[in-house]
Amino acid sequence: DALITRMHELIRDVPDFPSPGVGFKDITPLLADAKAFAGVVEEIASRVDGPVDLVAGTEARGFILAAPVAVALGAGFVPVRKHGKLPGPTAAEEYALEYGTATVEVHPFTVPRGARVLIVDDVLATGGTAGATIRLFEHCGAQVVGLSFLVELEFLHGRDVLAGHRVESLLAVS
Ligand code: 5GP
Repeated sequence: DALITRMHELIRDVPDFPSPGVGFKDITPLLADAKAFAGVVEEIASRVDGPVDLVAGTEARGFILAAPVAVALGAGFVPVRKHGKLPGPTAAEEYALEYGTATVEVHPFTVPRGARVLIVDDVLATGGTAGATIRLFEHCGAQVVGLSFLVELEFLHGRDVLAGHRVESLLAVS
């Protein structure tokens, strides 16, 4: 449809970024387009199934999308941050990268037990970040009711890592 066509036009493919051989999806032109930005926020919000208490955005581009989705749904917003950015106490979850590990953190006192959480990020690649974010919220006693992405890089099979969860992506790239 029109929104998906616009997304194709406005998401920039950057070869060899951040390292050689990697193709990067740059969403800044999409964010700068008032109608497209509002359109993707509305589309993410409209695909939610059932009530949501909190929308979690993953540092850094996830913040940009998750916050307006939270407002649209009448939910709160929770930033999922990289290690060391939030003042303690934090809940943390480590995950494997190609070389080494990374850690995602939240403030557990902002996540009530049983809270229904929607996780939002710009790109689903290998699913490592999203998988760790699911575990992070589950360890807080929350319930992850879905994950939404602008772009899914299907050839990396991130969806397999998120098996058992409701995964929505606006644009699938094969
Ligand atoms: P994963 O953990 O699924 O391999 O990578 C997803 C994370 O890396 C997301 O937080 C996402 O923002 C970032 N990411 C990976 N590839 C891309 C890309 O091509 N474009 C953008 N904008 N972000 C990416």
